[in-house]
Amino acid sequence: MGDMIRNLGKMYMNGEWVEAASGKTREVLNPATGEVIAIVTEGGVEDVQRAIEAARQAFDESGWRETSARHRADLLFALADKIQANADELARIETLNNGKPLREAESDVDSAVSCLRYYAGMVTKPHGQTYEVSNPNMQAMVVREPIGVCGQIVPWNFPLMMSAWKLAPCLAAGNVTVFKPSETTPLTAIRLFELMEEVGFPKGVVNLVLGEGKTVGAELASSHLVDKVAFTGGTETGRSVMQAATGNIKKVSLELGGKSPNIVFADVDVNVVVEYAMFGIFLGSGQVCSSGSRLLIQDDIYDAFIEELRARTALIKVGNGMDPDTEMGPLVTRQHMQKVLHYIEIGKQEGATLLTGGRQIVEGEFGKGNFVEPTIFTDTTPQMRIVQEEIFGPVLVVQRFKTEEEAIRLANDTVYGLAGAVFTSDAGKAMRVAKQVRSGIFWINAYHSAYDQAPWGGYKQSGIGRELGTFGLDEYTEVKQINFNTSLQPLGWFKGKQ
Ligand code: NDP
Repeated sequence: MGDMIRNLGKMYMNGEWVEAASGKTREVLNPATGEVIAIVTEGGVEDVQRAIEAARQAFDESGWRETSARHRADLLFALADKIQANADELARIETLNNGKPLREAESDVDSAVSCLRYYAGMVTKPHGQTYEVSNPNMQAMVVREPIGVCGQIVPWNFPLMMSAWKLAPCLAAGNVTVFKPSETTPLTAIRLFELMEEVGFPKGVVNLVLGEGKTVGAELASSHLVDKVAFTGGTETGRSVMQAATGNIKKVSLELGGKSPNIVFADVDVNVVVEYAMFGIFLGSGQVCSSGSRLLIQDDIYDAFIEELRARTALIKVGNGMDPDTEMGPLVTRQHMQKVLHYIEIGKQEGATLLTGGRQIVEGEFGKGNFVEPTIFTDTTPQMRIVQEEIFGPVLVVQRFKTEEEAIRLANDTVYGLAGAVFTSDAGKAMRVAKQVRSGIFWINAYHSAYDQAPWGGYKQSGIGRELGTFGLDEYTEVKQINFNTSLQPLGWFKGKQ
């Protein structure tokens, strides 16, 4: 048994740390070793309702929404500083709980700090508008106001970074939050809320609930006291969140799955681009919404590319994320690993060729964790399930194309539209493809880069709304027009007069 990170992780609501009314608890596991690393309280519907009521009261009565943008920015800057001061601890917790290699967890902590600072800076800048209208006496303006109580639900693949992406624009805009991390990976969120308490967010403004998605998460999506729900996770769960939100016509933003195409034309340097293809799929063990899980390779370089890709993929160092040499960690849970292994079986049954990988790694210590070999399928057809469905693991499917038109057609041939990429030395071709692929994020000669300034989100069944950038702040504000008549005169609409 390794060191325990927490003996009892609690929920934070109305400015207090509390246990679930039911007294239930849950074990949190290290996916690399199977060891219990924490016990956390297991909230239920009753608990989340208490948190929502506290948030409702804080929004309606505490004066938080009227605080100055400067004040909210100061709190967010202070939180960013606290995260930075505790960066090593947070990265370590993230690796122990999610499994990702430490260098990935460190990068996530940096991204969280940077996102908080970005929105802290943005909210003090002008974001209203005024208009010239047909009546010269009328001053027409648009102001942005907070939406209210936000239910925020994040998944297990980027627990800390997603928390910052959700919390920063929400709080910057003057909303209050009831925040739910995944039951699988709640540990960095608990630490984050401790830091928020230290920073001094007022009572009821930031609330953390723990527990299962199908109870606690579903209540956040359906409660009539919640004004907006923001969700990141799988498309099927996103669909149920959207349905649950209809009861009080909640604002909804969804960042869902993908099956993103990574298109490689024959005019590239194979040695360079092979590594980008590997980075596109094997970062986070393929558990990334924007993973380049479909690799489209042009005919002329297909054989050379595949051989280099196979050889280098077989050299990827899989292991415990705490080992500095590890290049790819385990999958997040036993159950998720089984799902990924099942997809590998489906791929074989569908007749695709297993180029490399395909096995759970069970030798020695590996057997205690959820390790799957980096896996590549070739000889696929567009109808195969492994080509159409999100596997969310280290499984790459390769598709072969001849022409630019064919590449674009294949790229768009799924229900998803989150991300995509093209690699070519022909600028015109790169831009044509970028404009034709129907996705919210597109890279040219790059993969996975995300910036605070640039909107993140999907077309088609990959989601609704955007995170990051000015667009991300817009998702947390209502837009109000105010028309101010500067010269009040009799209207003259009704003729009769007493
Ligand atoms: P989910 O989409 O089910 O989970 C994401 C978050 O939603 C978690 O916090 C979860 O809570 C919560 N949740 C679950 N059910 C509900 C519900 N009915 N109402 C509200 N919230 C809910 O992902 P899974 O973990 O089940 O993974 C399933 C698949 O989803 C993956 O295989 C992958 O394909 C995809 N996925 C995509 C992600 C992305 O970033 N696009 C992220 C994660 C998964 P809890 O975990 O506590 O149950």
